[in-house]
Amino acid sequence: MNKTDLLEKLKKECINCASCELHKTRNNIVFSDGNPETARIVLIGEAPGANEDLQGKPFVGDAGNKLNEYLACAGLSRENDLFIVNVLKCRPPENKAPKAKQRKACFDFLIKQITIINPKIILLCGGTALNLFVKNKKMREIHGQFLEINVGEDIYKAMPILHPSGLCTFPDKKNVMIRD
Ligand code: URA
Repeated sequence: MNKTDLLEKLKKECINCASCELHKTRNNIVFSDGNPETARIVLIGEAPGANEDLQGKPFVGDAGNKLNEYLACAGLSRENDLFIVNVLKCRPPENKAPKAKQRKACFDFLIKQITIINPKIILLCGGTALNLFVKNKKMREIHGQFLEINVGEDIYKAMPILHPSGLCTFPDKKNVMIRD
């Protein structure tokens, strides 16, 4: 099976998942975006928002537009270079921060997604993704730096990056965030 087929199989499991309460309130699971056969970068965000929940696709709201700007600055193609996923596959109502039980329920799906893609680098986009793999470090101290993380049995190169929704909420921080 190629990566696309393996991920389709995993997505079907995810659609049937009822491990936490979020499956009751979601409209769609938000599994991924990007071309699994060409992507060399996995970007991990936090959780779907309202737009993502309706469209079944990550980063399509305001934060998604900012992310697209980041990617254009870096000369990356969202369609070909990236495989975009979230820590949570279902939207937490009112966009609440993911709870431990919800993160745990989705963790295996995330690990399997990364293992199937086998990327050259993982972008940990925001504190939730960072804290899942790196303990005792703050985003503001280490964003933009390369590090190594354990994913299942494997070690991957990763880089924590600031979450674009920070720029939506605090647009005046743009220069600081991009320079850093
Ligand atoms: N949209 C997503 O899909 N993930 C985020 O982390 C934020 C917005």
